[in-house]
Amino acid sequence: MRIGVIGAGQLGRMLALAGFPLALGFRFLDARADSPGGQIAPIVTGAFDDPDCIARLSAACDVVTYEFENVPVTALAQIPASVPCHPPLEALRVSQDRLYEKELFGRLGIATPSFRAVDTLAELETAASAIGLPAVLKTRRLGYDGRGQRYLHRTADLAPAFAALGGVPLILEGFVRFDREVSIVGARSTKGEIRVYPLAENVHGDGILRTTRAPLNRPALQRAAERHLKRLFGHFGYAGVLTIEFFVQRGRLVANEMAPRVHNSGHWTIEGAATSQFENHLRAILGWPLGSTRALGHAAMVNLIGTMPDRDAVLALPGVHLHDYGKTPRPGRKLGHCTILAAAARDRDRLLRRVERCLRA
Ligand code: AMP
Repeated sequence: MRIGVIGAGQLGRMLALAGFPLALGFRFLDARADSPGGQIAPIVTGAFDDPDCIARLSAACDVVTYEFENVPVTALAQIPASVPCHPPLEALRVSQDRLYEKELFGRLGIATPSFRAVDTLAELETAASAIGLPAVLKTRRLGYDGRGQRYLHRTADLAPAFAALGGVPLILEGFVRFDREVSIVGARSTKGEIRVYPLAENVHGDGILRTTRAPLNRPALQRAAERHLKRLFGHFGYAGVLTIEFFVQRGRLVANEMAPRVHNSGHWTIEGAATSQFENHLRAILGWPLGSTRALGHAAMVNLIGTMPDRDAVLALPGVHLHDYGKTPRPGRKLGHCTILAAAARDRDRLLRRVERCLRA
């Protein structure tokens, strides 16, 4: 069996690494041959929306998936019906627009921050008085890792923020004074089987995920998050891994966004769960039985952003695993991650601090 993966970043690379023990083959589509996925499997180089590239990828594969949310839906619509593509294109379409996403959450009874679509400065002023400040102005599309966002604290911030982001459709969201951020990652197979991982707690800095710790062990939140995830699975007739990111505010989940793919906040599952999110995504899209999502201990994930730490110092730490995506260092770029696995949460947190010290060294 050969899996076609649109996008050959680190998520694609880790999908392939999870599929090799199952004798799965991979072919990527990406603009750069030396991308993390292209370093370990054959790649079709070209634009995601080039019909010829999509045709070459589909012709060589049994199933197609994607590892990147900003793939044009129109490109994926060109995949011949004889080659299944998962997750469903409707999930991709909704996840590409923060307004559609929040409207859908509302229809499914999943709480969100208050929000309004904004296309003009006058609409921003009206939205800001309706929602109140502080608030967050975001581009509806193509924003990720905190890009395309401005925090509005006072009325004087509106015009400069609109000048910086305007010209494309925007959304204004109420600022959520959250107690913590969490995410739920789960898989649904083409046969309808569902497995959900324990909730993970995430810490962001400058809009980029820095660390994840799992399991969170909050049974009421876990049940609520699973309920929300299952509603989305049902709505889309989903196959593959799906992630929802939430704010936790006074013990209640408030949804921020969803990702119809394997997710950075699920990387801990490679060493920290019985079956990784990558393997379960592959099993799900192939209609194979899903693997256990049980946590094997107390795990953490630290993103390596901009520069790599001293390899030997990290590898010398017991219970710490290094994942190097094979990328050229650049400020703000995700170059790799470390997973930490320990029997007790205290030991996990101690190791996490030691890894963070290696990053600052
Ligand atoms: P996003 O790109 O929407 O995932 O935002 C990145 C990070 O910015 C989130 O994980 C939060 O830490 C912060 N953030 C985004 N939207 C809000 C909001 N409405 N209220 C408070 N913090 C937010």
